[in-house]
Amino acid sequence: RDYAGAMRAAAATLAGEEAELAAAAARKGNALLEVLVAQANDEEAEDPPPSAFKEPLRAFRLALKLQPGHPEAKKGAADLDELLEHISVFEQRPKPNHKLPYDVVIVGAGAAGVGVALTLTKTFGLDPKRVVLVERGDRPGETFRRWPKEMRFISPSFNHQGWSGSFDLNSVMFGTSPAHTLGAEHPSGEDYAFYLGALAHAGDLNIMAKTEVTGVRSRTRNSGFWVDVAPRPGTEEEGAEPMEPLRARYVIWAAGEFQYPKPTDAADEMFPGEALCRHNSSVRSWKEMSGDDYVVIGGYESGMDAAFNLAACGKKCTVAASTRCWTTTTDDPSTELAPYTVQRINEALEMPTPPRLLAPLRVTKVEEAKGGAKGFLVHATWGEAEDDEGSFVSKRRVTEEEKGEDEPGEEGTEIVLRTPQPPILCTGFEGSVSLGVASALFEYGNDQACNAHAPVLTDTDQSTITPGLFLVGSLVQHGELSFCFVYKFRQRFGVVANAIAQGLGYDTRDSVQEARQIDMFMDDFTNCQGACGETC
Ligand SMILES: Cc1cc2nc3c(=O)[nH]c(=O)nc-3n(C[C@H](O)[C@H](O)[C@H](O)COP(=O)(O)OP(=O)(O)OC[C@H]3O[C@@H](n4cnc5c(N)ncnc54)[C@H](O)[C@@H]3O)c2cc1C
Repeated sequence: RDYAGAMRAAAATLAGEEAELAAAAARKGNALLEVLVAQANDEEAEDPPPSAFKEPLRAFRLALKLQPGHPEAKKGAADLDELLEHISVFEQRPKPNHKLPYDVVIVGAGAAGVGVALTLTKTFGLDPKRVVLVERGDRPGETFRRWPKEMRFISPSFNHQGWSGSFDLNSVMFGTSPAHTLGAEHPSGEDYAFYLGALAHAGDLNIMAKTEVTGVRSRTRNSGFWVDVAPRPGTEEEGAEPMEPLRARYVIWAAGEFQYPKPTDAADEMFPGEALCRHNSSVRSWKEMSGDDYVVIGGYESGMDAAFNLAACGKKCTVAASTRCWTTTTDDPSTELAPYTVQRINEALEMPTPPRLLAPLRVTKVEEAKGGAKGFLVHATWGEAEDDEGSFVSKRRVTEEEKGEDEPGEEGTEIVLRTPQPPILCTGFEGSVSLGVASALFEYGNDQACNAHAPVLTDTDQSTITPGLFLVGSLVQHGELSFCFVYKFRQRFGVVANAIAQGLGYDTRDSVQEARQIDMFMDDFTNCQGACGETC
């Protein structure tokens, strides 16, 4: 019955065991290392193969895991590091276990494509020549180059590596930091594309640029893929032969979401007249847009970014949002406005042309103004009043005609907003999985509202209906967990790389351990919180 006593006794035994086990592992490591060092120093004998160093390395790592800072293990690991400085333990890759020219084709060289390619080649030791990234842009990071000039990363960059268990939130490879490379806490798209390009260059990645993936075909079950490719429209050389399909054992879909906004065609439109609007992903610069009075449909990060940037360049703007996202708080930092956004919206509300923030509004129709008047009418219906009425703020000085509109109207009543410019749609992205050329190779969830259209994935992020086809990046979702930000989706790179490397016959034990240590191997979601929300 003496639970506390029993616990203390058990803890003491475990502590003793751990120390003994750590000492044993360190001893084993040093013993193995001694033999290898002797062999390396013996001029008559052949040098030990790099793979022989894996066993002592494993032993030192085990000792350090059991007792971080164990002096013998630390010294042994340092000696080993010194010895291995110029030897790659991956020099002896297994021979290809298939006849296809590539091990992996990665579709898209964005944050996810570059990150997973580096994990495959640097952490898991795949041959960079056998891993090819196909990118429609001129260089890696095409999406980021298409961001509006004024847009910034909302997740902050800071180089805290070495002082905490993790690293820069926007980094796609351990040991690198956009904050350090770019000197920016909230990098612009252009800056971030530079960071990705620098990583790809330093990592010797094999990138086929200006090339569009036009089809992905699965060969007979489990024997690889044909990936159809063509020059990006507009870059074709006259008279050139069509490009041969790429043949690979595995395909990683990393084509992202930004270049695949929700379609506004009649069959699928959210409200009549949606096609009259302009999606925010087509804006290259808020400042350079003509006109000075806008209606923005949709709130959250994109809507608030539009509102801030329009206000910052002296343009008027009214946001019609379905929820009062500017006051929403949740468990998951990616489903409420980022602090950076809240800060900027507060700044915008103090500017000479502050944005009007209206919610809860459901847009029902957009039409061209009638009777010879120019511009557009946005019809919207007030929704159920939300609890936090008190925190509804909009400091814009309204004209006589608009008075009263800033206050939420009675539920079910209509409001009509006028704008000389096509309304800006900030209603999100459909994404490249369901809109891209591989859409039929995935199945889609229909069990819960929030992941109804998400691709269903295995526990290694493979398509459930096309083995060998993996998904990486912001479209990865497991149940209610959405891996929509870099700091989330990069943690799955190790899981995907491990499944592929194992399939190619690699011994991945050390690589998995390394990926785990650097926070790039998340195979347990128990510590993840938060549901998906409109921000994703
Ligand atoms: C507006 C917006 C703001 C965001 N802000 C943040 C943020 O602050 N922090 C954060 O962590 N995340 C943010 N995200 C999430 C964001 O999606 C990811 O961080 C990141 O862009 C995803 O990287 P990716 O590689 O999956 O996609 P992308 O960066 O879009 O890369 C996909 C690549 O694939 C290429 N491609 C697409 N289709 C093809 C094809 N058929 N053939 C050849 N190439 C193709 C594209 O050219 C592109 O280079 C934001 C997302 C959006 C939409």
